[in-house]
Amino acid sequence: MATFKRNHFGSSRHTFHVAPRVWGLKTIFVNLYFVANPNGSWVLVDTGVKGFAQQIKDAADEIFGENSRPEAILLTHGHFDHVGTVKELAEQWDVPVYAHPMEFPYLTGLSSYPPPDSSVGGGAMAYMSFVYPKKPINIKNRLELLPPDGSVPALEGWHWIYTPGHSPGHVSFYREEDKVLLAGDAFVTRDGESAIAVVTEKREVHGPPAYFTSDWGAAHRSVDTLCNLSPEVAATGHGMPMRGRELRWQLEDLVKEFWIRAVPEHGRYVHEPAVTDERGIISLPPAVNISPPKILAVAGAVAVAGLVWATINKKNNKARQSDYVQQQQHPSKNRPYSHNRVITGFPPTVDPEHDDPDAHTNNYP
Ligand SMILES: [Zn+2]
Ligand SMILES: [Zn+2]
Repeated sequence: MATFKRNHFGSSRHTFHVAPRVWGLKTIFVNLYFVANPNGSWVLVDTGVKGFAQQIKDAADEIFGENSRPEAILLTHGHFDHVGTVKELAEQWDVPVYAHPMEFPYLTGLSSYPPPDSSVGGGAMAYMSFVYPKKPINIKNRLELLPPDGSVPALEGWHWIYTPGHSPGHVSFYREEDKVLLAGDAFVTRDGESAIAVVTEKREVHGPPAYFTSDWGAAHRSVDTLCNLSPEVAATGHGMPMRGRELRWQLEDLVKEFWIRAVPEHGRYVHEPAVTDERGIISLPPAVNISPPKILAVAGAVAVAGLVWATINKKNNKARQSDYVQQQQHPSKNRPYSHNRVITGFPPTVDPEHDDPDAHTNNYP
């Protein structure tokens, strides 16, 4: 068995302990995870927000020794706060990046994600969502499919679980032996709608971040699936890890009360999901107008969340609000939700032949 530079229970200024051979690192408001095998080889799960590549490498040095590099990068999903450094790190480490096929269009420049729903309310982070970067990244050259048998490349004793809803190809990772769950944004352990909770780090099970969840039925089934595992430890994309009975009770409650607690009362995707396939968006429900009182709230919230946003990345403020996303023609006749608007005839967002590195910092949280 390999000895790691820091033991399982230690945590430095930067990283936090999750479970044996699992460490977390927070980049502003989103977590990524270092997961090791007993022999010392390791993988990175998610990559945080842009601008943190050096900090991630420093944390890896601290845990595994200098100039250590992983066998692979695994993605729970491709929202911008989970793929901010993926291109840079995959190049520097020369490693493959694994994701679910339903997430591929948003990682290869083929499609944008379903647009965020800024009408769902719940605080500054939601209202600010319209300024988040939007274009899909393109890491086609590094991207590999997660194995269909549920095994996790380069990681013993783990398997991946399909947990869509928050994003179309969202997956979670699970170590059966000691019931350790890396849940991405399938559910989170912090109130993601509240700018205050972002700072205070109160641990509490919540549904997936609402403003970017585009299929609530699937999201509910995914939380149910994860709850049925009876995890001992859950480490998520947002918030600190939770454990034991408190975790399981709160998860059970979330499953039971999902449509009251997690799903917004009103919102674009509440009654109809965005419909997607392996090529991206097929159809979207109509956008929901923000009411005048909410618009006033937006003005106040923007002032608060603007500070958060400025910290994340000034460069990415170019993104503009638009309900339309680029997508190829798709037949919609045989699809469910045929009353959804069908997106047709738009060119791909990114031309893979003409890569703009500055455009590679996008997608929703
Ligand atoms: Zn996230
Ligand atoms: Zn997300």
